[in-house]
Amino acid sequence: MQHKETLHGHAAKEFERFLKDKHANLRGTVRAVSQRCASGIGRSADSAAWATETLHYEMDVTLSDRLRRQLAQIEAALERLARNDYGICEDCGEFIGLARLRALPFAQRCSSCQSRAEAQERRVRRPVLEPVFSGAGDE
Ligand SMILES: [Zn+2]
Repeated sequence: MQHKETLHGHAAKEFERFLKDKHANLRGTVRAVSQRCASGIGRSADSAAWATETLHYEMDVTLSDRLRRQLAQIEAALERLARNDYGICEDCGEFIGLARLRALPFAQRCSSCQSRAEAQERRVRRPVLEPVFSGAGDE
């Protein structure tokens, strides 16, 4: 597909640097949170402190899930950058626009396709109960 407008030299470099920085940062955070998850639970004898620890642990698990998803988004964005696809709306194939990309570097759709997709998602999505200790044993 030929794109009328894409990300050119300077801006592409700017986004690449931004994404790589962000990627390195996030990886550090994911590692720190995983270590906290692995070592932070079950140390306190009294139940109030234990409850707090458990709560923190659950928050960490949720947090690290979210961070992992962000990492995957960044990796996908870097791949698109390498393929020269970065900034191209995956629905309509138009350039998303620099302003929108600066605000939302992982945007995969232009704003009109995004609001259409979100409206559709809201109709489809049901509440999902996540198992509390999921992810505790991975890696
Ligand atoms: Zn679009």
